[in-house]
Amino acid sequence: MENVIGVSLFKDIRQFLKEKNKKNIFLITDENVSKYYLEEILYYLVPFKTRVYILEPGEKSKCLKVVENIYMELINYNYDRSTTIISFGGGVVGDISGFVAATYLRGVDYIQIPTTLLAQVDSSIGGKVGIDFGKYKNMIGSFYFPIKTFIDIDFLKTLDRREMTSGLAEVLKYGLIKDYDFFRYIRDNIQGIYDFDEEILIEVVEKCVSIKTEVVAMDEKDRGIRKILNFGHTIGHGIESLYDFSKYKHGEAIILGMMYESFISKEMGLIDEEYFCEIIETLKDLVVPVHFSNEDITKILSKMSHDKKNLDERIVFVLPTGKNKVDIFDNVSKENMRKSLKGDW
Ligand code: NAD
Ligand code: ZN
Repeated sequence: MENVIGVSLFKDIRQFLKEKNKKNIFLITDENVSKYYLEEILYYLVPFKTRVYILEPGEKSKCLKVVENIYMELINYNYDRSTTIISFGGGVVGDISGFVAATYLRGVDYIQIPTTLLAQVDSSIGGKVGIDFGKYKNMIGSFYFPIKTFIDIDFLKTLDRREMTSGLAEVLKYGLIKDYDFFRYIRDNIQGIYDFDEEILIEVVEKCVSIKTEVVAMDEKDRGIRKILNFGHTIGHGIESLYDFSKYKHGEAIILGMMYESFISKEMGLIDEEYFCEIIETLKDLVVPVHFSNEDITKILSKMSHDKKNLDERIVFVLPTGKNKVDIFDNVSKENMRKSLKGDW
């Protein structure tokens, strides 16, 4: 697993493919990314036999039907075991391309070129690949690492503000679970991030990639410590599914989740009022907290109790226990969950 982080990396990508003696490239991307960057990347891929597969943007493409279509295309155009799949897009393109790479002919090489902030700091790192099945998210998949990941900050310039916020959720999460100084650095430089300040973004992405890589290395198959990456995700997923994944982007829901879960932490005496306020002050500028009605709270709790991460039907939470620290709990009272979702803090 190797990452290159920088700007204007197309030349490096071409060089890498040449050095590895790659000849057959199958590039998977989506309509938005191709609109901005397909012509440019194809210019750099001229020395190779290249076919392009363009997905419709969005989560609905992460399904078995699309995987089947991609297999058909690979077979029809005689792509053999020497094929290199290039994933060029956000997390949706990355998850599906990685899954195809892991399974086509029992596995072919693939490289990741993540183009959203979320994909650069999260989904392209850690080897999880997969697709949704029916209404179940990420139900089918595997662990399969790319031979190289090229993280080019330039791509972020065409993302809209909500997509940046969505990625920032995971960035802030890394700070809260592992590196308080980094959390402060992000808070103090948030404008620079939204303004695409290259220097700040490179520093931020490098830090996130190193934190995620370190956590994943300790627990590649997600049986133990890797679970700390789920801070904000227990309640966040509950909120996402309350609105059928349409109202909030994933990261926006995670920002809400981190606020409500920090409140639970404070109520349980795991963090003090001052630290709690610091977290809320930073996060509420990105997504406005909601005072959920009793009816919605009941629905959110019901969604949470069906989460596949739960153990023996107990809802599992990752909660801050101090600066740089989180721990895993399965004993949060329903009363505290309700109190936090009411949002009267
Ligand atoms: P996405 O891939 O849907 O991209 C978001 C939107 O941005 C899309 O409309 C896309 O077309 C557009 N886009 C992408 N790059 C762009 C660019 N440079 N300029 C302009 N528009 C661009 O979503 P995402 O947030 O990147 O990823 C979410 C997916 O990642 C989910 O399916 C989630 O399950 C998955 N995920 C996987 C992991 C993992 O470990 N494998 C971790 C977190 C999330
Ligand atoms: Zn997430």
